[in-house]
Amino acid sequence: MSSELRLKKLRGSGGYVMATVTDQQQMKGNLGGPDLFLAPMGRLDSQKITKHFCNTCEKEFEGPPKIKYENPNEEVAENLILAEKGQYICNSCNAVIAEYREFRKPNETVEVGSAKPLETSQTTQISQPEPVQVKPEITSATQPGPATTVSSIEGLAVYDENAKIVGKAKQVGIDSNQSVVLLVIKNDGTEGSIPWNSIRKVGEVILLGSPAVAAQLGKCANCGFSNKEGSKFCEECGSKLQ
Ligand SMILES: [Zn+2]
Ligand SMILES: [Zn+2]
Repeated sequence: MSSELRLKKLRGSGGYVMATVTDQQQMKGNLGGPDLFLAPMGRLDSQKITKHFCNTCEKEFEGPPKIKYENPNEEVAENLILAEKGQYICNSCNAVIAEYREFRKPNETVEVGSAKPLETSQTTQISQPEPVQVKPEITSATQPGPATTVSSIEGLAVYDENAKIVGKAKQVGIDSNQSVVLLVIKNDGTEGSIPWNSIRKVGEVILLGSPAVAAQLGKCANCGFSNKEGSKFCEECGSKLQ
């Protein structure tokens, strides 16, 4: 793969920057449309940024914007760590030009588990709406502390297995079966929920639908044996399959 650098316009929610990016970075920033987005690309080397445009100032400035970030290394779900969150900030008026979040999975071979409540540490948090979905009484068994949601994933674009955009992540909640679900604002503005176990990857975007889930069809909830798809009963232990 070529490591050729190209000068590109990278959009954020409050403006854009002009930066030289690698092919790989371009691929990250390409969400399927004609534009490249800063949010999925994470933190760029500010030396690679030549200009920034601030929507608030309605002006283009020479040089990079300020980049402010922190590394909370906060476990927002089982096996899912919010490694870094940052903002590109207008040098002139301090408006936010773009925001990003980087997640990592400490154990790549294991799927992301159920949501954990965020510690309510108020550092330099970006204003986060009050969670409403997770009720304290249903989270007490495995999730001590104040019940809250993985608001760090709020606003991330959600894509299905065909790389079609489904909507935007709203928050993690718990449905009537007490299963962890991802609440999504769909493209048409309505709200929907997606079982947490159908999330394949959470990174700069949320990717759904997965071979992993497909492989679980026929998996026995009792003993874990992988039965043929469509099996009614487990070959190993005889339990009824879902
Ligand atoms: Zn500005
Ligand atoms: Zn079984």
